[in-house]
Amino acid sequence: MALDNKYLKLIEFIKTLYPNMDTIPLHAPVFKGNEKEYLDDCIKTSFVSYVGKYVSKFEEMTTKYTGSKYAIAVVNGTVALQVAMQLAGVKPQDEVITQPLTFVATANAIAHVGATPVFVDVDSDTLGMSPDKLDDFLNQNTKWEKKTEKLINLSSSRPISAIVPMHTFGHPCRIDEITEIAEKYGIPVIEDSAESLGSFYKGKHTGTFGQAGVISYNGNKTITTGGGGMILTDDEDLARKIKHITTTAKIPHQWEYVHDEIAYNYRLTNVNAAIGVAQMEKIDAMLANKASIAEKYALFCNENDIKFFDQPVNARSNYWLNAILLSDKRERDDFLRYTNENGIITRPIWKLMNKLEMYKKCLHGDLSNAESLENKIVNIPSGANL
Ligand SMILES: *Cc1c(COP(=O)(O)O)cnc(C)c1O
Repeated sequence: MALDNKYLKLIEFIKTLYPNMDTIPLHAPVFKGNEKEYLDDCIKTSFVSYVGKYVSKFEEMTTKYTGSKYAIAVVNGTVALQVAMQLAGVKPQDEVITQPLTFVATANAIAHVGATPVFVDVDSDTLGMSPDKLDDFLNQNTKWEKKTEKLINLSSSRPISAIVPMHTFGHPCRIDEITEIAEKYGIPVIEDSAESLGSFYKGKHTGTFGQAGVISYNGNKTITTGGGGMILTDDEDLARKIKHITTTAKIPHQWEYVHDEIAYNYRLTNVNAAIGVAQMEKIDAMLANKASIAEKYALFCNENDIKFFDQPVNARSNYWLNAILLSDKRERDDFLRYTNENGIITRPIWKLMNKLEMYKKCLHGDLSNAESLENKIVNIPSGANL
């Protein structure tokens, strides 16, 4: 029950990082730029829905920032993942490989396409999909079927049609190795970079390694549009298809309403995009501030024998959510209870996807890393403090 002294010291340290606050949130949005002005502009011009200049401006700023050739704004990160998978060729009854340690939206998006997730373990340092475990899994459990040109899972006889790695808490996983393995087995990678806007691996922005990548702008993410998502791709044809299917598949015409397939209304509104433009204008200051907070945490934890998840080698992290490792579930629960009762909001990492009711029958490889991390990781306050 009694919390180890080093954690009590950490709590005092957190209070010095976020002074004069009754409650220290895990990650609060910061609106210190032109948000109000641009929102006012939307209302004044009555461009509040999906016509208006902010959506394309937001998309352009995103291509420039990430280096992706194309960026398509949509209503949230979950549908962004769904559409990216669908257009990458994932079909109902297929299987999609992802990691068990992720936010539920990753697995849900796979299910929304009608496919089934298959879980491959994470690396204990990056917390993202392990290329070694991925290669082992594919090597032992699949064969390439020449006739259909599909990679077949031998234990289910179903095609595996995509790999969806996730950059946990903004720390890039070994994404270049993952795309190499995916290429070897002939299937596309869709990166769940929902948490990693502003994170780079070997100098390249996360979400730009696979066939497509996805960003989320939910209220708790690094920057927010209230709610929103973005799909990144370098493939012109894919980008055109994504824009088309997320905007009701209307054939452009001055007055005729002709739509050429069953499509979605997944457009981001001008109002949300206006917030996004203002947030993007401040992203560098935001990330610099978050990095300096993370650096202070790293130093403190190092000096006090607390395991802190620093950015992996070869990577620059956005430090979306800082995380520490406790020794077991009991110690973790004591820490969570103490901090949350004392106005410091902390939370445990997600329950593993393969343990949730709806995904517990899904196939998986050896998950020993995820299993050993599941009950020990806690996120500590990480918001920018500008
Ligand atoms: C936030 C998040 C999403 C979903 O984004 P929404 O915009 O909330 O739909 C998907 N995957 C991961 C890993 C996330 O953290």
